[in-house]
Amino acid sequence: MFYKDTLLKQVLKPGRYTGGEFNQVIKDPEQVKCRFCFAFPDTYEIGMSNLGIRLLYGSLNEDPDVYCERTYAPWVDMEDQLVKNGITLSSHETGTPLCDFDILGFTLQYELCYTNVLNMLRLGHIPVLSSERGEDDPIVIGGGPCSYNPEPLADFFDVFSIGEGEEALVEFAHLYIDMKASGQYDRRKFLYEVSKVPGFYVPSMYEVTYNEDGTIKSFCPKYDGVPAKITKRIIKDFDKAYFPEKPVMPFIECVQDRITLEIMRGCIRGCRFCQAGMIYRPIREKSPSVLNEQAKRTYENTGYDEISLCSLSTSDYTGLRELTDGLLSWTDDRMISLTLPSLRADSFTDELMQKVSSVRTTTLTFAAEAGTQRLRDVINKNITEEEVIRACKVAFAAGKTAVKLYFMIGHPTETDEDIAGIAELCKHIIDAFYEVEDRPKGKPQITMSVACFIPKPFTAFQWEGQDPLPEFRRKQQLLGHLCSDRRIKYNYHDADGSIIEAVLARGDRKLCRVLLEALGRGMKFDAWSEFFSSEKWFRLFEDCGVDVKFYAERKRETDEILPWDMIDCGVSKEFFIRERKKAYEGKTTPSCAEQCAGCGANRLGGECTWCPNTKK
Ligand code: SF4
Repeated sequence: MFYKDTLLKQVLKPGRYTGGEFNQVIKDPEQVKCRFCFAFPDTYEIGMSNLGIRLLYGSLNEDPDVYCERTYAPWVDMEDQLVKNGITLSSHETGTPLCDFDILGFTLQYELCYTNVLNMLRLGHIPVLSSERGEDDPIVIGGGPCSYNPEPLADFFDVFSIGEGEEALVEFAHLYIDMKASGQYDRRKFLYEVSKVPGFYVPSMYEVTYNEDGTIKSFCPKYDGVPAKITKRIIKDFDKAYFPEKPVMPFIECVQDRITLEIMRGCIRGCRFCQAGMIYRPIREKSPSVLNEQAKRTYENTGYDEISLCSLSTSDYTGLRELTDGLLSWTDDRMISLTLPSLRADSFTDELMQKVSSVRTTTLTFAAEAGTQRLRDVINKNITEEEVIRACKVAFAAGKTAVKLYFMIGHPTETDEDIAGIAELCKHIIDAFYEVEDRPKGKPQITMSVACFIPKPFTAFQWEGQDPLPEFRRKQQLLGHLCSDRRIKYNYHDADGSIIEAVLARGDRKLCRVLLEALGRGMKFDAWSEFFSSEKWFRLFEDCGVDVKFYAERKRETDEILPWDMIDCGVSKEFFIRERKKAYEGKTTPSCAEQCAGCGANRLGGECTWCPNTKK
């Protein structure tokens, strides 16, 4: 424990800051050549649940030359104590102040954590602006899904890792070690060398110019040898990828406290609004036998009583039966339960219901995303009302009375008929409950959870405009009026938060000064309802002269230079343009399991499970 007892007694959850957890890695800092700290820009409970952090922490620590430690965003009570006592935010393993590390790595999971990133730099006594860091300051690197459009953070990061980091970050650390050892290291030279390594983007090596209307005129490397495009890194052989069999076990209750088996990367479905489904392509499955062994060893090292089979669409995993049979052969006796976080209504079966305890014990959730078949075809959801109703009937027949359905409003081409379709579908599910002969006693309870569409980079809808705030609110109210049935519970997200997310997700470098100003105004924890204030954000944009409509509502032409165009995520722009055209024609694209749609991701190598043309 590195923070004093007297200080920890002043905060709500001291267990967030003590370190010393079971399975944490302890090395002698004097015996390593590179000291790396992983920073999670949200609370300990959320960070400890993140599989990406577990993977990267473990893979970096496998290397005897590198010592990777961890830190998390301090809650406001702890921040007050740090500031009041003049203490620098430090790592969990050795209590080293963040400013004393060689490298500080942030994972960027959602846009509303950006203010926390800046605040952690400040509390770690590291200059917030990359241009103000000196030779003794750490190199600050970012990665994770938001690094696919890193531009709103370009001024704060020295470098971004694009794609999967398990191998890339070890390579990065070794470039640092080698340059230090050979006496060639200085900050600028190092960043120049990094910019030439595949999968790394160094914002200071590029110049951006703008047209009078604020759109990007040009985006060019400043120096010879710096690539114009940065292609993401992937792990080609997923069976051989590092897996954390000794995860650090949290001291306090976390959001997810279990063994997480990542069974597949990428998604075969191709929903046109979904960024994750595209940026994690090509699709790679891990073999059931490898997963089974990894689960056994992790169980032996942790004693967890729950195994989660995780991927973007778990029921699409081709080895699901073999895997669940293999796991159940030893988990049942030990009272270990299996859970599936993501189910599709069209592949939800009675057999799955029997095998998987999460399916037996919790409310079943299906993502329908839109209320009419026309709109589900536009977004390429490839699911029918009959399939959703069939899945709900399976659940009702097995004794459930409650199901939850996810929808999104604001999709391109949406009309009021599509909004009415959401209410209609929920009513049809209620009718279906009464059609099930062996239904449970009581009334059905349908939760209708409705999010707002955000046009994200690297999707077929990346050029689309987002609905204005009054239009989102009108649609939300309309749906409320159409759902007066007390058996339907209506949850919806605040539209203003989705608009701010859209601005940050599609933003360019001009937003850096807005984030800097947000830091100055003390903004943080924007992903938390108790801190998020849309008034503060809209006032901030206005004071900084940023037009929200330009970033969120404006529809782009497909030949406009987008802020993230320098990144190659594997899936080609031509594919996104084709998919967008098909969306407007109401045409669907079959899943990769039926036919490869030629998205382009297979050219990165890696075994794209279904693709006949994979470069191996
Ligand atoms: S290359 Fe083909 S099979 Fe692979 S992800 Fe793309 S569309 Fe699907």
